[in-house]
Amino acid sequence: MRPVRFNINPIEAKLENSLMKAELPEGHMGEGFFATSLDKVVGLARKNSIWPLPFATSCCGIEFMATMGSHYDLARFGSERVGFSPRQCDLLMVMGTIAKKMGPVLRQVYLQMAEPRWVIAVGACASSGGIFDTYSVLQGIDQIIPVDVYVPGCPPRPEAIIDGVMQIQKLVHHESLRRRGSDKYKELMNSYGIE
Ligand code: SF4
Repeated sequence: MRPVRFNINPIEAKLENSLMKAELPEGHMGEGFFATSLDKVVGLARKNSIWPLPFATSCCGIEFMATMGSHYDLARFGSERVGFSPRQCDLLMVMGTIAKKMGPVLRQVYLQMAEPRWVIAVGACASSGGIFDTYSVLQGIDQIIPVDVYVPGCPPRPEAIIDGVMQIQKLVHHESLRRRGSDKYKELMNSYGIE
């Protein structure tokens, strides 16, 4: 018979110390009021409610599964709602080797996402083609869509993926509401042939 172990001394969870709380944005506080700018409130809300769309084509996708599992738990960052509908997601996570044939599909998914949208290239393959320096593999997804954060590694560990998401959170938090309408942003989109 296989030995069975029971945890006879369970540790009580102290939730008050382990729960992450959103920090207060800069502003003016007085008795019964708090005033800040709309930019900061929207940034705070967006930062803590990012909906990722995992575009996983190979091994890096398995690391993402571990990142979503209970041990690493991306839900702690408000990102537990993983969606496969581009119209409702705002973070495209590209994980794995992207063959040139797959390029137009990835681009279409990106185009179907509503603004504001962000992109992470997870792992060496998505960032630069990785070890696949061949005629059939796209040498980095930034050849077809703009990328905000690159996560190095082959594969990156879940800690690195979480770090990438935290870098995106920083960008989201401090992004001006006017950025997407700016000439510089339009120029960036035009350079990818996106209107
Ligand atoms: S970067 Fe490495 S682990 Fe990730 S998809 Fe490419 S070969 Fe696989």
